[in-house]
Parts: sequence; structure tokens; C-alpha cells
Amino acid sequence: MPLDLEKMEGDIFTSKGMVKAEFTFWVGLAMDKFYDGTTDQKFIGTKCSKCGKVFLPPRNRCGDCFAKAEEFVDLPGTATLKNFTITPWKITERRAKKGNKNALVGLVQVDGADSAFMTEILNTTEDKLEEGMKLKVVWAKRIKGHPQDIAGFEPVGGA
Ligand SMILES: [Zn+2]
Repeated sequence: MPLDLEKMEGDIFTSKGMVKAEFTFWVGLAMDKFYDGTTDQKFIGTKCSKCGKVFLPPRNRCGDCFAKAEEFVDLPGTATLKNFTITPWKITERRAKKGNKNALVGLVQVDGADSAFMTEILNTTEDKLEEGMKLKVVWAKRIKGHPQDIAGFEPVGGA
């Protein structure tokens, strides 16, 4: 789209118009390593150098004691359901987007981690979910080193 030059004063001019600027940014060392892990269908967290807490998704610094958390640790694909809800809103979209049907969304703590994250709970129904139940990861069909590599979690042993 051509720029619409409106005003020029000395070396500075102003204009109105749309500028399309595509960009990429680095997610940082910890999340870069995390996505290396999801590419291989495994979880990689970080461990606090002082208190030993393990974070997944990984953090560079401990939120509790502020020490560095730069030791990478492999974590399993199993987890505990800490809490859950049902919602028509899709959580994998960057923008809030209402879906055609409700989704089960859970706060999931991967075994060996001290933190938890939100993800979709799959292949079950709300009435079968209980806080504290064991879950396992469901990887996406197409792995891309991307947040959506994690399709969600499902109950261990099926619904
Ligand atoms: Zn710590």
C-alpha cells in the first residue's frame, strides 16, 4: 500500500498508512530447549540451583528464591491433574477464540515438576475427572517444535 505523505518539516515527515512487518523473536534459552524437547516428544524443565525446585515450562530463575535455574532436567510424559474447568474458549490460540464445542482444560503438573501449566484434557468427559488423577501427554500428530506439539493430556489407562 503506498504511503500517504501528509506533512514534512525539515527531515521529518509524517504519513498515514498500513505497514506490514513480519518478525520473529527468540523465546530465550530455556524455552528454546523446551521446544527442542517437544520436537523429540519429551519434556525438558529447569532446576533451581538453590532450592532444587523443578519448573516446566522451564524458567531461567526460580520464582521462590530468585536463584538461577539453568540446569536442564528430563521429565516424563506423566502428570497429575491439579484442577480443571470446562470452557468454550480455545486455549491454544494466541487470541481468545470461541470454539463450537466445550473443551476440558486442566492445570497439569508433570511428575517431577514443582510447577504446573494449563492444557487441554482429552479423550474423557468432565464427570470422569478428579483432582489428583494421573494423566499422560498426548502429542500432536504433526510435531513442529511449537506450543501446539502438546495436544493435551489424557487419563492414564483411558477414560
Ligand atoms: Zn529456588
